Amino acid sequence: MAAPHRLDVLILGGGAAGLWLLDDLHRQGYSAALVEAGALGSGQTIASQGIIHGGLKYALNGKAGSAARAIRDMPLRWRRSLAGEVEPDLSGTRRRAEYCCIWAAAGMRSRLGLLGASLGLAVKPIPLNKETRPSLLQDWKGPVLRLGEQVIEPGSFLQILADRHLSRILRVDGPQGVDIKASPTGEVREVALRCPGGMEMIVQPDQVVLAAGEGNSRIRNRLGLPVEHIQRRPLQMVMLRGEMPAMNGHCIRNASPWLTITSTRDHADRMVWQIGGQVAEDTARSTASVAINRAREDLARALPALDLSTVQFATYLAERAEGTSSGRRPDRPTTFIDGNVITVWPTKLALVPMLSDMIQKDLKPPANHPAFQGPKGWPTASVAIPPWEMESSWTAAH
Ligand SMILES: Cc1cc2nc3c(=O)[nH]c(=O)nc-3n(C[C@H](O)[C@H](O)[C@H](O)COP(=O)(O)OP(=O)(O)OC[C@H]3O[C@@H](n4cnc5c(N)ncnc54)[C@H](O)[C@@H]3O)c2cc1C
Repeated sequence: MAAPHRLDVLILGGGAAGLWLLDDLHRQGYSAALVEAGALGSGQTIASQGIIHGGLKYALNGKAGSAARAIRDMPLRWRRSLAGEVEPDLSGTRRRAEYCCIWAAAGMRSRLGLLGASLGLAVKPIPLNKETRPSLLQDWKGPVLRLGEQVIEPGSFLQILADRHLSRILRVDGPQGVDIKASPTGEVREVALRCPGGMEMIVQPDQVVLAAGEGNSRIRNRLGLPVEHIQRRPLQMVMLRGEMPAMNGHCIRNASPWLTITSTRDHADRMVWQIGGQVAEDTARSTASVAINRAREDLARALPALDLSTVQFATYLAERAEGTSSGRRPDRPTTFIDGNVITVWPTKLALVPMLSDMIQKDLKPPANHPAFQGPKGWPTASVAIPPWEMESSWTAAH
């Protein structure tokens, strides 16, 4: 085996959080490498709806609480990156939509138009008239607002970041391809890596960032670190495929987010919708047909103009992995520091830039290690395949 590689920072996990951090650290002169146990973003990022939230969803009661305040600057920050005006330059990322819309199925139709004005949110909703609404909401009896929340294609975003760092992204042979050796005081000084072909290498990082999503629990367990402040929230997301128009937005009910709809196109250029929100939480442990029936009922109320007669349905299971200090749903990124190990969860894709800033404040400045290049022949990781391309059991339209 070759001599150990000295590094400033070793990142475990190549989802949105790990890749964004790798890009930031590399630009700042850190010698950094990222280890991925499977496909990049294969936990949550590839399953996500790609909405760069600006907080309105959390301020529906008319108050900008801490969740809304934490996230309110993110849409502008992403918009500038997506336009290539600031680093990371994400200008090649495919955008599903430049804006989302928001409309109320019940409970607050009359107040919806006033929302946002008094909340101090950076992204204020703009009322849409009949002509400028999405086609499915043209005859909706109640206000429809436009929100400056962009929707990105998560796979394309991951690819843009990964392409810049191929020689610094090391694919390992599943979670067991990483063997972390901690000192009795909990400091990680050496990590043995094994790639799918059997090649091995040793890295000696000054600091380690665990950005492995739900995989963080397993790594922390192995290191003997506490795992009780980690929560997982299962979801069953519903997908539609067919000849629907594009639709990106939130339908709210009784001042709570109810249905979140995003749309994309599959490899055969068919329209695909992802449906999240209450249905995904309520049916997380039900069968796919229960989730699909519930989505049909909800869609009939939220979008009565939608014709479902030729639409196919499928579902996929996903799990949100988050750190929490209070047992409640967190509203900002979480970081835990244990010796030279920082464990991180962004909580939301939209909050990934904020998380990267937080981690950088906790890292020691770079030492003078040479810039990292993976050994010749070591495989890099590819981006995960989105759920609608994996799913084979679409229900026939009826
Ligand atoms: C269905 C769904 C919809 C969502 N929609 C939105 C949305 O619209 N907007 C929004 O802001 N947020 C959304 N989120 C939340 C958002 O997706 C997540 O907060 C974010 O993607 C988490 O990124 P991550 O990098 O921490 O984790 P992940 O994307 O899960 O990445 C973790 C990576 O670590 C790797 N890994 C695991 N174990 C190991 C190991 N032992 N060693 C090395 N690598 C390992 C995994 O293979 C994976 O690539 C959604 C989440 C879900 C589940």
